[in-house]
Amino acid sequence: MKTVRKAILFLFLLAPGFLIGQVLDKEQLIKDITYLSSPKLEGRATLSEGNRLAQSYIAERFHDLELTSQFQDFIQYFTMKGGRRTQDQQNPANIIGFIPGSETDTLILVMAHYDHLGTKGKDIFLGADDNASGTAALLAFAAHFSQHRPKHSYLFAALDAEELGLLGSKALLADFPFPLDLVKVVVNMDMISRSETNRLYAVGSRHYPQLKKYLLPIKENSSIDLYLGNDGGTGEKDWSNASDHGPFHAKSIPFIYFGVDDHEDYHKPTDSVDRIDPDFYTKATELILQVLLQIERDIL
Ligand SMILES: [Zn+2]
Repeated sequence: MKTVRKAILFLFLLAPGFLIGQVLDKEQLIKDITYLSSPKLEGRATLSEGNRLAQSYIAERFHDLELTSQFQDFIQYFTMKGGRRTQDQQNPANIIGFIPGSETDTLILVMAHYDHLGTKGKDIFLGADDNASGTAALLAFAAHFSQHRPKHSYLFAALDAEELGLLGSKALLADFPFPLDLVKVVVNMDMISRSETNRLYAVGSRHYPQLKKYLLPIKENSSIDLYLGNDGGTGEKDWSNASDHGPFHAKSIPFIYFGVDDHEDYHKPTDSVDRIDPDFYTKATELILQVLLQIERDIL
């Protein structure tokens, strides 16, 4: 009897869906996107009180997950102009958490911008899809790898001032806490929680074909349409520089950017959490985690 029970348990553990269900806390994911896009945070415009609330929330989560950081209290302040490090707290700030790899110093850099457009008159630009969705997914991955120590080191960067011209990303690059050549791949998420066509784009593999081996096996087994493209191939859009991965791409650092097509609520006050698609969103987040696990399997 005991052996049978063990065998059944073993089979359950082998089922990938079950395993992922265990490691990705969907309830927490929805809780995080809901808080980050709540009216209380007033659209998270850089330097606003609501933006500071988002910072505190992310830093507290990193702290609770026992991440470390190369920056005091996880906060990398930077100036609006030069992107150089500053201690002045009247400045924009990236929130940076770190998990050291068990086998290599090689870095996987996971990024998502948490800032958005703020308010205009009575309108609050809630920014649920753009980009509370990517930020909450980043927190889910931090939670996963804090429980399952990765072989590669992970740097989790919740970036500020993307909406003002990718400033948080530029500042991180200008003041990167490790030698840049340790970065194996940048994974950026910006808008991943809704799609009328059930499609998530993975941008970057045209520039860095070596990344296809992490994407294609996941694409094959996914119930959402993972589309490799929109990186400037013939007849396609070019999102190679459309979000925070751009400055890293300019330094020839391989990136994968995950995002969806623009939608009717893009950069409107109606980009609210009740308009995201929780089923698509959780599947997209699971898919991106699967890509990270695929990178994990790659022996360096
Ligand atoms: Zn965005």
